[in-house]
Amino acid sequence: MFQQEEYDVIVVGAGHAGCEAAAAAANLGSKVLLVTMNMNTIAQMSCNPAMGGVAKGQIVREVDALGGQSGIITDKTMIQFRMLNRSKGPAMWSPRAQSDRMRFAEEWRNTLEQTLNVDFWQEAVMGLLVENDTVVGVKTQLGIEFRSKAVVLTNGTFLNGLIHIGEKNFGGGRAAERGSTGITEQLKELGFEAGRMKTGTPPRVDGRSLDYSKMEEQPGDEVASKFSYLPTPPLVKQRPCYITYTNAEVHEILREGFEKSPMFQGRIKGLGPRYCPSVEDKINRFADKDRHQIFVEPEGWSTVEVYVNGFSSSLPEDVQYRALRKIAGFEKAKMFRPGYAIEYDFFPPTQLNLTLETKQVRNLYFAGQINGTTGYEEAACQGLMAGINAHNRVHGKEPFILKRSEAYIGVLIDDLVNKGTDEPYRMFTSRAEHRILLRQDNADLRLTPLGYALGLASEERMELVREKERQTADVLETLKTFAIEPAEINGFLAELGSATITEKTRAINLLRRPNIELPNLTSVLPGLTLALAPYGPEALEQAVILVKYETYIEKENQQAIRAAELENFVIQGRLDYKAMPALSHEAREKLLKVQPETIGQAARISGVSPADISVLMVYLGR
Ligand code: FAD
Repeated sequence: MFQQEEYDVIVVGAGHAGCEAAAAAANLGSKVLLVTMNMNTIAQMSCNPAMGGVAKGQIVREVDALGGQSGIITDKTMIQFRMLNRSKGPAMWSPRAQSDRMRFAEEWRNTLEQTLNVDFWQEAVMGLLVENDTVVGVKTQLGIEFRSKAVVLTNGTFLNGLIHIGEKNFGGGRAAERGSTGITEQLKELGFEAGRMKTGTPPRVDGRSLDYSKMEEQPGDEVASKFSYLPTPPLVKQRPCYITYTNAEVHEILREGFEKSPMFQGRIKGLGPRYCPSVEDKINRFADKDRHQIFVEPEGWSTVEVYVNGFSSSLPEDVQYRALRKIAGFEKAKMFRPGYAIEYDFFPPTQLNLTLETKQVRNLYFAGQINGTTGYEEAACQGLMAGINAHNRVHGKEPFILKRSEAYIGVLIDDLVNKGTDEPYRMFTSRAEHRILLRQDNADLRLTPLGYALGLASEERMELVREKERQTADVLETLKTFAIEPAEINGFLAELGSATITEKTRAINLLRRPNIELPNLTSVLPGLTLALAPYGPEALEQAVILVKYETYIEKENQQAIRAAELENFVIQGRLDYKAMPALSHEAREKLLKVQPETIGQAARISGVSPADISVLMVYLGR
């Protein structure tokens, strides 16, 4: 035995999923070994240096609320913060940070090094040790066997990775890094189904060679917010991004490269992310558009390297270079690295339970891109959940599963396990049917009590939640009781074009009006300002949202309760689908494959209709 008798959990891969998995299991008390190919690329941002964005920002807040690390690390290392969609309803508000790529990775490594119970080993894992359909460890390239009670695989884009640039292709997990062989082959022998996906990244350029005066500046928010609910330091100074556009000349040059495109010539077989297409894909698919937006994003506080967001490409490097130089502001651009595409193996996630444990091999968990997802945030939250569940399994505790009405994380895992995915899966707000409940402002209220009960979220976090709840209740009470006389407000209401009042009314009634915000009221009612003075901005924001969206929130709460009732019909192992002739052929096949644990889960499997659910209910005696 090498180094250690036996670990509780071995995590393979130190990307966004692996880091969260290792931190979660270790912080819960498991003895963890993190095995990764290269300790200098821990938490590497393979593509854009940014965390969050629409629906993804909500996920980072959820990871944080449960006691994960990605939010804290982002706060400590970001160079710009924006709350996207502020003009829309609060369900759409989405935090997004521009990160310092190198500092982000360094902070993650420091965090893991300071986490008790995490050991490190730098090497490629070549296979799993499996005995009696149960994983018992891993085997490395040097032939070392590390034993453990559970294993979390988070290999990202590395499994049989194949990089394409024009007509050239070569094996690799990411630019300048080796790919990983052996694991897919062994898992296939064990009965797993594997698939192939692709993703791509744009070139990086030298910021000193760009002319920013020809671009539009995109500053961060005037007052930067943050991801963590803990008191991480506020971002005071920010770096701007810039916006420029492609044009007809750029498109013309790119088109010349089509004959050498690995995508158009069919050399790339894996399916890529539809919503994040390469620039050649965009000009091919939207031939009538004469320009596409390019976001020019600095990669850090001090580096001159710049990420050309919107210009992902696998065309030959000279074509990328010539086309780039026709973009306004890029006339003298010097390229640091070309864009490229990468194909890699993934495992259709219908082979997983809701805990992210595989159905075929006990105590083996998959998290991140290996499950067919894309994005750091999607990977991080799966890592967190797999780390928690691996720890719980090893210590004889209950599985930890989040419902669709509790978290975007619940939506993501439920979608993956029940519907699977043919193309890289990313989160959208539209995937969450209860999105008015799953806001970025209340992830702590939703999830910190759960993280605290697990032993992952700290007492400090829980106390902050209790305080926010107390303050929010007090603010609501103040709004319900604060009386306003017509004479105090009518002049102001008339000015706003809002109906005047004829008798004394409570503040809450005026706040319910769509065109009246809390600062409107406090600006003319010094008494209200005074009454609300003791409360923090988060409690004020929470109370206002609860007032303004009361009916929507109530409606979705009711729907969530109805959905939960279906979840209470536990069916796992109780039904013989083959003996139910009334089921449709497709439903029978899918039910046999997924083996849903509840009627609710069965209802969400694509191909299982309401009629099929009625059949199941009859068999359950309902
Ligand atoms: P990764 O971050 O890939 O980490 C995997 C880790 O596992 C690495 O540390 C690696 O060294 C290690 N590893 C792999 N195999 C082994 C082994 N056998 N033994 C030991 N260690 C191993 N996401 C987007 O949202 N939008 C994009 O546009 C986008 N473009 C991308 C373009 C490229 C070229 C790449 C490579 C990725 C892109 N991504 C994009 C995806 C994003 O990088 C991933 O979703 C995210 O990093 C996945 O996290 P992960 O933890 O699953 O895997």
